[in-house]
Amino acid sequence: MTHGTLSARVDDQPEPGASRTITCATCRACCCKLEVMLMGEDDVPPELSETDRWGGQIMARLADGWCAALDRNTMRCRIYERRPTVCRDFELAGSDCIAERAGANL
Ligand code: SF4
Ligand code: SF4
Repeated sequence: MTHGTLSARVDDQPEPGASRTITCATCRACCCKLEVMLMGEDDVPPELSETDRWGGQIMARLADGWCAALDRNTMRCRIYERRPTVCRDFELAGSDCIAERAGANL
């Protein structure tokens, strides 16, 4: 959920000495369909947030599930500098990242 130019090398391949590059650049933002809870310190544009059924604030998502802040042409975050804490903390090449990529056959 970083959508920057970060890349990481992870040893998620069993072959000795082998590793696979994980980068948002080739991912098509598959983690940006996940629900994003907003924290008190988050400062996202109000029109991009909504209230969930429990009264919490979340990032708005479109009918097809993508976050409303995602630029659909570039597949990059339109509010990168103001992205929520949950997005900042989403670890590139972490277990959740790898799971989302696997779900998208990446
Ligand atoms: S799932 Fe991982 S690689 Fe893909 S956009 Fe999110 S953080 Fe980047
Ligand atoms: S706020 Fe940005 S980084 Fe977070 S889910 Fe939406 S598009 Fe992705």
